Amino acid sequence: MLKKTVEIDITGIVQGVGFRPFLFNLARNLDLKGYLLNRGNAGVRLVLQGNSINIEDFIEDIEFKRPKISYIEEIEVKELDSETIYNNLEIKNSEEGRGISLTLPPDIAICENCLIDMRNKNFSKYFQYPFIACAVCGPRYTTINALPYDRKRSTMIEFPFCDSCLNEYSDFDNRRFHAQTFACSTCGPNYKLYDKSKEQIKRNTIKELIEETANRINNGDVAAVKGIGGVHLVCLADSDEPILRLRRRKGKRKNKPFALMVPNLEVIENYLKISVKERELLTSYRRPIALLEKKETFKNSTLSESIAPGLNNIGIMLPYSGIHYLLFDSIGNKPLVYTSGNPSNIPMGIDNDKIFEQLQDLADIYLLHNRPIYQRADDSVLRIHDDKIKLIRRSRGFVPEYLPLPFKVEIPGALATGPELALTGAVLRRNRIFPTQHIGNVTHLETHDYLKKALFHMKALLQINDSELKFVACDAHPAFITTKYAQELSIQFNMPLYPIQHHHAHVLGLMAENKIKLNEKIVGIAVDGVGYGEDGNVWGGEILINSYDGYERLGHLEYQPMIGGDRCTKYPARMVASVILNNLDIEESKKIFEILNIDNDLEYKETELNAIISQFEHSNKRFPSENIPLTSSTGRIFDSISYLLGVSSIKTYQGEPAMKLEGLALKGDASKISLNIGYSKKSGMYIINTSNLIQDVINLRENPKNKREDIAAKFQRELGETLAEVALKVAENNNIGKVGLTGGVAYNYTFSQAIKNQISQAGFKFLEHDLIPPGDAGISIGQLIGGLFQYIV
Ligand SMILES: [Zn+2]
Ligand SMILES: [Zn+2]
Repeated sequence: MLKKTVEIDITGIVQGVGFRPFLFNLARNLDLKGYLLNRGNAGVRLVLQGNSINIEDFIEDIEFKRPKISYIEEIEVKELDSETIYNNLEIKNSEEGRGISLTLPPDIAICENCLIDMRNKNFSKYFQYPFIACAVCGPRYTTINALPYDRKRSTMIEFPFCDSCLNEYSDFDNRRFHAQTFACSTCGPNYKLYDKSKEQIKRNTIKELIEETANRINNGDVAAVKGIGGVHLVCLADSDEPILRLRRRKGKRKNKPFALMVPNLEVIENYLKISVKERELLTSYRRPIALLEKKETFKNSTLSESIAPGLNNIGIMLPYSGIHYLLFDSIGNKPLVYTSGNPSNIPMGIDNDKIFEQLQDLADIYLLHNRPIYQRADDSVLRIHDDKIKLIRRSRGFVPEYLPLPFKVEIPGALATGPELALTGAVLRRNRIFPTQHIGNVTHLETHDYLKKALFHMKALLQINDSELKFVACDAHPAFITTKYAQELSIQFNMPLYPIQHHHAHVLGLMAENKIKLNEKIVGIAVDGVGYGEDGNVWGGEILINSYDGYERLGHLEYQPMIGGDRCTKYPARMVASVILNNLDIEESKKIFEILNIDNDLEYKETELNAIISQFEHSNKRFPSENIPLTSSTGRIFDSISYLLGVSSIKTYQGEPAMKLEGLALKGDASKISLNIGYSKKSGMYIINTSNLIQDVINLRENPKNKREDIAAKFQRELGETLAEVALKVAENNNIGKVGLTGGVAYNYTFSQAIKNQISQAGFKFLEHDLIPPGDAGISIGQLIGGLFQYIV
């Protein structure tokens, strides 16, 4: 039989997914000798000796039989002229290989086999042990401080194996053969329970601890429960009282929806719609929060209306760690509020002292463990539009997966710092972009710090040297903390700084994920709340011709003044007042203000309204000015309509008026209302007429025959169709065949459907997001692409 020796290099997500044990057993069954090892972030290398047919079978089987969470990018096989005779097969110590990608998967939800072990009374080391894991499940990204993926580079280093675990680790027939982050009740981390004053509540077993926690939750307490990537606040979901108490304690969180964890989907499927795609994602190893639409029957459920006040959907996730299953075993078969345990706009604590400090006014008891969390990761949040994923928060279960760019890039490394709100940072490595986990609003020192740490952790995992950093990209807004941070990085690493216009960045991300070619152009519809425009105005309803190396703005929503600037964002009535004053004379405006009772919806009532009017009169319509910026924001128009239809008079969280408007519109019938927004063209620029729109909606609501939900439905569809019409004009005039939609307003299903239908029916290719978030969490990716093309020029 012909013998040969080969060296096989495998790249992709091949560490921390049970890949080494899989390869080892595959080679053993084919009677191959030699060795295999993990190589830094360069993947897995094998040197195998055996008969050539078996080696061929081995290579073929890798792709067919690989662990399902692994992802193979490339298998490189080289025949070796080796004199060495290998007499056995071994797993060698990992070495410092340097690759250009990441071999590490996201955190993986507990697997079926580990669940069975955890409930097996006869398997005492794992029975009711919440940190159970194996070669194909358990924490990964949140626990590793460097690559290659080995226990000694994880936070599990603090828990040396007991003899029994070491035996499992060394036995190639065991599911935990060469698994890195498992442990048992003898040697591993554990939970302790504390009361409000940090006094330990002692119990003999983990079961008793969990029962005590469950009892207290059942009695209405709010529990802080530490998990995989941070800590959650947990309380009953079928009773108003604990939820309202939690809202009171959170202060600012009057209406922001809470996510639920449910023991299984059967508990909620009578009340919430679950599509095939939603079910697939909810039960996947990623275990995200998916926003599910309420059914008509929702009102018959026991679920509290205060979970997601005024919204037509609720965020649902399934258990993903042992502790979640054990909690439900004790609490019973019912949903729980399961929300990130952090004060507003501050990242959640990951070490126990910080958790106590941050949650002292929020939680009644604390169920905390002693396994250090190296990287914080919130639960990911998404919506499904038909079969496309619209990521709202991309974090646990997704990070550190990357976006491959559809063209070749020679640049070894670059950074992007994102915009200001709900952001991520991102790292470029050759032709791959690695977004960080969800950071949040970088308006505080703590979130700024979190951004820095997450960016540099990603850079470290990718083994990018300081000298390999070639540029840093940021938002074009000069006052953002993230812009200032990028300026610092530019000086620190002596690299150029590229500010990238916000909506251009949105469309760049969309282009890359849709694999648009290098010299191709698309028409991008970028709709969101705020983005700094090149003319200094607040953009947010933009039609751009976009290529990788630049953009041209060819249309936008009509500029409207925002009297008092950002206050218009918090109080939609102020935005409506601004539009009315800008279009009618003062006396007419005042009449409408009276009809609308607008002063009632301003923080300082009549005094504030008078101030708005006088500020407007003094401006002599000379704006933009410091106190009266101009905006083309789609978000502000949604807010205004939401206010006019009586849905929302104050914004207590990002997107609130628009989300509530969407809820109302779902109950309506657009065909019952006649509304025509229209647009005009001035010196080559299409302007969508929002002044008419606001006045028409005011008139429509005055007619008692018109139902609010019908007006809402018509508005969403009409605005979508008008934007699509303008985008199609621009595409036709410029011979462009692809039109895409991006920005935070794209989360709105009916609005984006209206655009999608219009574009597709006209025979154009419609581009939408499926991989990267449509909202500002996707901006850092676009910033890197924009920066890249400025760097090469
Ligand atoms: Zn497992
Ligand atoms: Zn052990």
